[in-house]
Amino acid sequence: MGYINIIDLDIEQLVSWLEDHNIKPYRASQILKWIYRWQADSFDVMTDIKKEIREQLSLNFTIKRLETIRTEISKDGTKKYLFKLKDGQYIESVLIPEKNRYTLCISSQVGCAQGCRFCLTAKQGFTRNLTKGEIVAQVRDILNDQIDPVHLTNIVFMGMGEPLANYRNVISAINTITDNQWGLAFASRKVTISTAGIVSKLPSLGRDTKINLAISLNATDNKTRSMLMPINRKYPIEKLLDACRRYQLQPRRKITFEYILIKKINDSPENANRLAKLLGSIKAKINLIPFNEHEGCSFKRPAESVINDFREILLDNNYTVVIRHSKGRDISAACGQLRAAISNNA
Ligand code: SF4
Repeated sequence: MGYINIIDLDIEQLVSWLEDHNIKPYRASQILKWIYRWQADSFDVMTDIKKEIREQLSLNFTIKRLETIRTEISKDGTKKYLFKLKDGQYIESVLIPEKNRYTLCISSQVGCAQGCRFCLTAKQGFTRNLTKGEIVAQVRDILNDQIDPVHLTNIVFMGMGEPLANYRNVISAINTITDNQWGLAFASRKVTISTAGIVSKLPSLGRDTKINLAISLNATDNKTRSMLMPINRKYPIEKLLDACRRYQLQPRRKITFEYILIKKINDSPENANRLAKLLGSIKAKINLIPFNEHEGCSFKRPAESVINDFREILLDNNYTVVIRHSKGRDISAACGQLRAAISNNA
């Protein structure tokens, strides 16, 4: 039988399939509610749907979960999931505890083509985009995995891959993650996309979604940024910040600028002052991320005093600044590290 994973469909595709089979379109939200709200693994349990319809669905669709290959739990409670996809590829998702809630960091591609110098995923190259179903399944399956009541409140696209390079599938996944009629019902303001700066996609992202935007900036001059992030050669800092200025922000929101602090590369007081000036005309908040040293990368983490001085300068310029320390350092610290461990052992 040619089964399709129903999680790969968006609601419009399901409605159109139902109509082609003379089934009322309202059934679509009933079916999807079972899958996302009630975590159904088979059509048989959908007791408010007629038996003949359930049989038709079973003949054409499956409801697939990802195959969990390995999980690791760090001393700080961070839990990493390594999933195997049906073509044998691996992706990872990370569940991060923060006070009384969790943030889930999900992947959007197998590998990544952006080649950022500080990133372990970049070293693995790009294999393919994730399907909409593979993106949504990371959230749905991890929600289902929690035995204790989980306060999973935030979803961030900061795992493997550049989400805006897989635009259509990511937007379709966000629609399912945020829909509160039949989907996973996460509030849009609790979902964040982090991009290396695919400027051409920013206007449509602002129109198509109400989620939060984070920009991985990491430098204050084009020479340094192009060295760290090759995407900067195509979309230099001025173009990127101009697109941010025009970005259709939701009321009372700010764009988050992520800045990985790397010793003697971008961590000087001059850099901090330049950063404050660059973001001056943007509704911005800043996340400072001390570099997480890993094998095969010569970059170093700055001293605590350097990190604090950098932060102070930004605070003096009235920015909201958070220092984000990498969680799960004792398991597989940097993004892509769990997958790398598997690939090396394969
Ligand atoms: S930092 Fe993000 S965009 Fe850059 S290579 Fe890594 S996964 Fe890709």
